[in-house]
Parts: sequence; C-alpha cells; structure tokens
Amino acid sequence: MGHPFDEAKRYIPGGVNSPVRAFRAVGGTPVFFARGQGARVFDTEGKEYIDYVGSWGPLIAGHAHPNVVAAICEQAELGTSFGAPCELETELARMICERVPSCERVRFVSSGTEATMSAIRLARGATGREEIVKIDGCYHGHADSLLVQAGSGLATLAIPGSPGVPDGLAALTHVVPFNDAAAMQRLLDERGEKIACVIVEPVAGNMGVVPPAAGYLEAIREATAKHGVVMILDEVMTGFRVHRSCAQGLFDIRPDLSCFGKVIGGGLPAAAYGGSAELMAQVAPDGPVYQAGTLSGNPLAMRAGIETLKILDAPGAYEKLERSAAKLEGELLRVAADAGVEVTLNRVGAMLTLFFGTGTVTDFEGAKASDTDRFAAFFAQMLERGVYLPPSQFEAWFVSLAHGDVELEQTVHAAAESFAAIK
Ligand code: PMP
Repeated sequence: MGHPFDEAKRYIPGGVNSPVRAFRAVGGTPVFFARGQGARVFDTEGKEYIDYVGSWGPLIAGHAHPNVVAAICEQAELGTSFGAPCELETELARMICERVPSCERVRFVSSGTEATMSAIRLARGATGREEIVKIDGCYHGHADSLLVQAGSGLATLAIPGSPGVPDGLAALTHVVPFNDAAAMQRLLDERGEKIACVIVEPVAGNMGVVPPAAGYLEAIREATAKHGVVMILDEVMTGFRVHRSCAQGLFDIRPDLSCFGKVIGGGLPAAAYGGSAELMAQVAPDGPVYQAGTLSGNPLAMRAGIETLKILDAPGAYEKLERSAAKLEGELLRVAADAGVEVTLNRVGAMLTLFFGTGTVTDFEGAKASDTDRFAAFFAQMLERGVYLPPSQFEAWFVSLAHGDVELEQTVHAAAESFAAIK
C-alpha cells in the first residue's frame, strides 16, 4: 500500500480538506492520524505525538475526554439531528450568555466562518452601511468579504487574497494594521458613516499569537461607539480558552457582537454569534436579516460543547491552563537560549507562538519578518521527536488540560535537542 496521502490526493484537492494541513509551509508529508487520547495523537503507523494543535483549538479538554465521549454516545442513541428545536441548544446558549455579559442572545451555526459571515451581515443590516474594517493578518474564516489580507493559511501560501472574491466586494473591506489604534481612528474619522463594523481578533491568533497592546481594544471600542460602528470581537479562537468569559472578560471590553467556535463545539462542528437582545432581534425570524442552517444547533455538537464548558468549570481549570502554558513558555525560552537560537515567544493563556529570529512581534509585518525556514527546520525536528506542532509559523500552539508535567517535560526535552539540531 502507498502512503495514505497519495491516495487522498487522488480524490481530494491537495489531499486535504483545509490547506494548512498539507504541510506546504514546512515541507514533508502530512501525518495521518488514527487516534487521539488526552494530549497525545497516534498516526496510522502507531507513532505517538504530543499534540499542540488540538484540532486548531477546540480540544481544550484533550482528545476523547471521557465525559465528552459519553455525552456524544448517549446523544447519538437518542438521535443525531432533528432540524427542529431541542433543549440542548437553549442549555448551551444559556451557558454562553451567563459567561459572556455582552451576549443576551446567541445564534448557533456550524463553523467560525459562518459565525463571522453572519455577524457581518447583521452589522450591515442593522446599520444600513456596506463597508467593513478588518485587521491585517487577522483571519475570520473564508467568507468573501473577509478573505482580504487574512493571515495564516493565506500567509503560508503567500496568497494576498483569493481569486473568486469579486473586486467589488473586496473593495468594501478596509484593512488596517493590528495594534495601530491611530490608523483605526483615522479611518473611522474619515469614513465612519459608511462603515458597518470593525471585526477584530482580540488576541490575534492567525498571524501567530500577537497580544493586543495596552489600550488597543479600548481605543477600537471608543472609536466604533463614536461613529455608530458595530464592534465585532471574533472570539472563535480565544472564546472560553483565554478566560471563562473569553478575551472580552480578560481585557474587560464589551463588544456589540461576538463570534465563537472551536471550544463551544468541543471538537464537533458548532459555532455561534451573539450580542444584545436589541441587535440580535434583527436576525430572522424576529427580524429581517436572514441566516439559517440545516445542522445549526446540532444535538451532538451541543452535548460536546456543554460537556467541554462544564469541564472548564472545574475549580482551577483556567489556572491549570495558565500554569502549564507559562511553564512551557519559560522552559522553551530557556532551552532556546541555551542553544543560542534567537526566538520570540508570544503567549496569552493557553495559546502561544514561538517566532524564530525576530525582535518583538506586535503586528502582521513583524510576524512576517520571522524566519520561516528556521521554523520549518524546528517543526521537522520536533515531529521526528514525537511533538506535533501547527505546521506553520503563523499559527497558535494550543495547550490543553490534558497536557501534564510529563508531556511538558517531554516537549521541552525534544525542543532542547531540536534547537541544538537546527543551530
Ligand atoms: N475566526 C478565527 C479567529 C479563527 O481562528 C477561525 C479558524 N481558525 C475562524 C474564524 C474560522 O473558523 P472555521 O474554520 O470554523 O470556519
């Protein structure tokens, strides 16, 4: 038998169902996984890896957490989808609204892409304005309006936008640099009355992790409020990862709309957008802004999300995530310094990125100045030693509750050898 990747390529474009999986940025052949347990994944040949991808964020409780698995199995026996309301949707919606004060109502969808796309439609519908503002290097999924200077996957492939996005639509999207409050204020002062919304990742995660500068999110809040512009926080990655009340709780910001995904589906397809009762009343069937979905609020996904949020409610869960990620940060910096390899590490809670060969990274330009060849070499060394990192410099590494001292120490040991090998 050939490698499963060769067979996959016969039927699937590039052999993958999402481009970053293809290892184009790091070279080599993608690993095909057969199984995951806790912080570990096992490939089709039985080789074991410590996993820092965690399905790109959802698996904050680790792979195949027994509570999540039991809930999914139990629900599967009761039916996998109704296309009619079920109480699980209300339960997860209530859990989100209780944790996130800016959300009085949430609408479930099936992917982060749908959540941001729908939030933008709502902002446009509610304001009667067409133009939007996004941040250079922030990624919000692949909806047409948002596929402009959109970080990670595109950065990895060096694609500025995408063919197939009509120029007329792309022209409605303004792009300003991350952490540049003055540029945002200038743009809104100039064109505020034409702009429906600003969408931003509160912690950028798709140019690699880049925290917001002190006062940056507050400045966006102030400028958007001044011009009647809807502020959308895309918390698809940060939501319930960096804090129980998401990044908006961590940084004490109250957006008009929020987008969630990843963690709220616990590894199954669920995402959501939410905001004030007044704004969300614009959404059909209460209001005229249309949005729908055959599998929206899917019972299996609701159960997985509910169980995951419950696991995160255990006393000390976020403290444990913080402690583990902080330990990893400190130890990686130590072994990099020992090996004489120049790195910058950005971290917010249990999401972090190790940038190679640069000074501080505060925006996409800074991230792009990093040494991607070095990252690729490091990635290959780590993979060889049984540590599965995101296969691109411009991605976040995710630490889960299943990453214990054993996994962290094994990772640091592999990193020490890998730094030495690429020096
Ligand atoms: N927003 C952010 C901040 C994301 O990180 C992602 C996915 N990485 C998305 C939106 C899109 O989510 P999905 O892949 O579920 O469509």
